[in-house]
Amino acid sequence: SSYLSKVPQGAADKILGIAQAFQRDERADKVNLVVGAYRDGGGSPWVLPTVREAEQRLIARGQNKEYASIVGVPAFLDRALEFAYGPGCTALSEGRVAAVQTLSGTGACRLAADFYARFLPPGTAAYVSEPTWPNHIPIFETAGLEVRKYRYLGADGRFDVEGMLEDIGQAPAGSVFVLHACAHNPTGVDPTAADWKRISDALLAAGQHILVDMAYQGFASGDARRDAAALSLLAEAGHSLALAQSFAKNFGLYGERVGSLSLVCADAAEASRVESQLKLLIRPMYSSPPIHGALLVNEVLSDAALRAQYDDECASMARRISDMRALLVAELSAAGSQRDWSHVTDQIGMFAYTGLTAAQCDALMEEHAVYLTRDGRISMAGVNEQNAGVIAAAIVAVAG
Ligand code: PMP
Repeated sequence: SSYLSKVPQGAADKILGIAQAFQRDERADKVNLVVGAYRDGGGSPWVLPTVREAEQRLIARGQNKEYASIVGVPAFLDRALEFAYGPGCTALSEGRVAAVQTLSGTGACRLAADFYARFLPPGTAAYVSEPTWPNHIPIFETAGLEVRKYRYLGADGRFDVEGMLEDIGQAPAGSVFVLHACAHNPTGVDPTAADWKRISDALLAAGQHILVDMAYQGFASGDARRDAAALSLLAEAGHSLALAQSFAKNFGLYGERVGSLSLVCADAAEASRVESQLKLLIRPMYSSPPIHGALLVNEVLSDAALRAQYDDECASMARRISDMRALLVAELSAAGSQRDWSHVTDQIGMFAYTGLTAAQCDALMEEHAVYLTRDGRISMAGVNEQNAGVIAAAIVAVAG
């Protein structure tokens, strides 16, 4: 018999498996709060008008479909790095940031993991927050790193700064700490500016490497510059720092797979050596990245008027989500909930970490066709004025 007949069934992805169950559900009033993708007030995907305008310009210009180089579209990389690190970043102006375009944030994290596996000593562990985006774990494990957890969310639902600082100090020097730059997924709970300073100092003192995963720049406050404050602090503090940047959420370019991986180096010569090694990882894996999304981001960020309009569009997404937090909490109260839901309005970013148990989540899906991940995370972007009441009534029915 063929070897294929012995291939076992793989487990469904924690998040995408539930998204598939939603698709199969035939109930007309089903609600999808699973995947972190922005929806407009009518529940539809939203292509940013600035992205549409950039697309028109590329077509009008007769943009060709030639290969990018292994590292991607150079103009895009310049704009993307400035967008993340800010125009005042010392390492950028000194030309010592090695960067490549990646297959969105996931591709950036995976490439970083492969780079760590190749150049850090064998046995180096990657520390991820407890909880974290579930895909972080197989990304680092598949690259051959051991994955360990650092404390993040306290039992009181707040950021456990003391726990995290302790875990930073107790990890072996030279470990990799994966940090969420802003709008932490899944908790929606971020460190304060003062917390970040302490985290930065502790990481430096303990001699850890850091990978900043920035998948939601602009989604925390609505202001992309403000959301990069932690990254700027870390970049200026002199860390061994890598950045995984995604344009999936903040530019609505989910399926275009556009992002970057960058490493802050000691000088331009070191950056050049690091880039040469990133190219050696990329070339046998996918040769070169797709160009369309990168050209769109470059177009928007290169034009002052489009950039200003983009800032408004980004802010409008963050504002709608924030409005939906308030609406959902009001509907929960109107539906007679006796519970305190203030964490839903306190949290920021794409998600609310409701505190619902796995059993309550299952009941929401089975009995009420309201879909969410079994850790109680809901995508606030899936909430709108039409479905907030239905969602609230379902939550009250399963959780009181
Ligand atoms: N990191 C985190 C924390 C995320 O939430 C996501 C998106 N779910 C990503 C990285 C990567 O997403 P993408 O590959 O679509 O950019």
